[in-house]
Amino acid sequence: MSDSFFSGFELDLRLKQAIEKAGFDEPSPVQQQAIPVALTGRDLLVSAETGSGKTAAFLLPLMHKLLQKTVEQERAEPSSTRALVLVPTRELAIQIVKQCDLLASCSHLKTGLIIGGNSFKYQQAIFRKNPEIIIATPGRMAEHISHASCDLTDIEVLVLDEADRMLDLGLAEDVIRIANNCNGSRQTFLFSATLTHKAFAAIEQDILDNPEIIKLNAGRQQNGNIKQQVILADGDEHKDNLLSALFERQEFTKALVFCNTRAQVNRLCGLIRYRSSAEKPQRAGLLHGDMSQEERRDTVSKLRGGSLNIIFATDLAARGLDIKGVDLIINYDVPRSGTDYTHRIGRTGRAGEEGLAVALVSSNDWNLMSSIERFLKVRLERRKLAGLEARYKGPKKLKSSGKAAGSKKKKNKNNAAKMGINSKKTKPKKSGKSESRESSEGDRSKQGFSPLKKKKLV
Ligand code: AMP
Repeated sequence: MSDSFFSGFELDLRLKQAIEKAGFDEPSPVQQQAIPVALTGRDLLVSAETGSGKTAAFLLPLMHKLLQKTVEQERAEPSSTRALVLVPTRELAIQIVKQCDLLASCSHLKTGLIIGGNSFKYQQAIFRKNPEIIIATPGRMAEHISHASCDLTDIEVLVLDEADRMLDLGLAEDVIRIANNCNGSRQTFLFSATLTHKAFAAIEQDILDNPEIIKLNAGRQQNGNIKQQVILADGDEHKDNLLSALFERQEFTKALVFCNTRAQVNRLCGLIRYRSSAEKPQRAGLLHGDMSQEERRDTVSKLRGGSLNIIFATDLAARGLDIKGVDLIINYDVPRSGTDYTHRIGRTGRAGEEGLAVALVSSNDWNLMSSIERFLKVRLERRKLAGLEARYKGPKKLKSSGKAAGSKKKKNKNNAAKMGINSKKTKPKKSGKSESRESSEGDRSKQGFSPLKKKKLV
């Protein structure tokens, strides 16, 4: 085995061989920080950006722990599943299974996938085979617990990946229930884009035991490999033309276009297929919550294989999707929050690749886009497409005093509050604790959001 930077970790040799096979030369920052602590047996609470290598950061120590029991010991004293990874979406679960298979390729470890949309009976058979690792979405996993089709008493490691997203989707109850069914002496890793303690209060108390907190970002750290631009637009018709022009004029290999509704995804996919030219043909597909698991998987694998080069998607696809070569992200609709924006653009610029993210911004989107810029603490580059310049140039400057300015201010403040951003003048809370931007970001109850209420997927 060649001497890679991973050789500094006390990892099982079979994992080091798999790392070499995977072509990972150097641990990413999250791996550098999380792996040594995880190997000591401590619980972890980690904030890490998508695309940062966080999956291997939890899989490697998890697998190392499982590999400490020899095959002979396992034969003499068989256990049921020993590690469980819970993730918010089916797509992410499928991707993690792939990483598991890659990292387990030099060992005997087996992985099972338990997600909604697949046959329940087939999954019961998976449990009976006792794969060492199960990757699951919480809803389906909780159903199996109700049917007593799985035994979690041998779980040594529990991972909650993209925990903030699981809370957003109203899965906290299922997650806690599943964790309570796992062995009490297990090790637990919680990974999330943001570490907003309020949102995690219940989870932390119920699930983690004196975790080491590793903060790699505050949920808004920007990936320097992604160039971010804004193009002003005069409404949807103009946005349609900008979109076609971008596909014509921009050099790209694979693009993801994000919309806020399924109807918009369907409309635009049809439009771009219709407008596709012989000189530069576009092969567009779509991805949203109305589609079956099979259809979604088919679309993703077509983009991966290159028979599609554009996917129109809702936010459901934003998390976790890891497709090599996605170099263009277009926000046809501005996302509803700064974290959604970060997740959308995080589908490009992965593992050191370069990417471009363009947001089409009309007068209706302006306030939301400005809130996102404030949230990210950046001003995105303004771009114009020749011949398609918008008449809209941004809001007219209002006088600082007077009724109009006052109402505008109020509107901006409401918008910022919707995204969980504090305006400077936010009243101090009763507790007297200062409200940091970060803590308010996850304080969704203030936004009329209940973490236990299921949010409809788009
Ligand atoms: P993740 O953030 O876990 O979704 O990982 C993003 C991508 O980076 C995946 O395609 C991984 O296979 C890849 N990756 C993870 N760790 C490394 C590493 N140390 N070196 C190179 N690529 C990596």
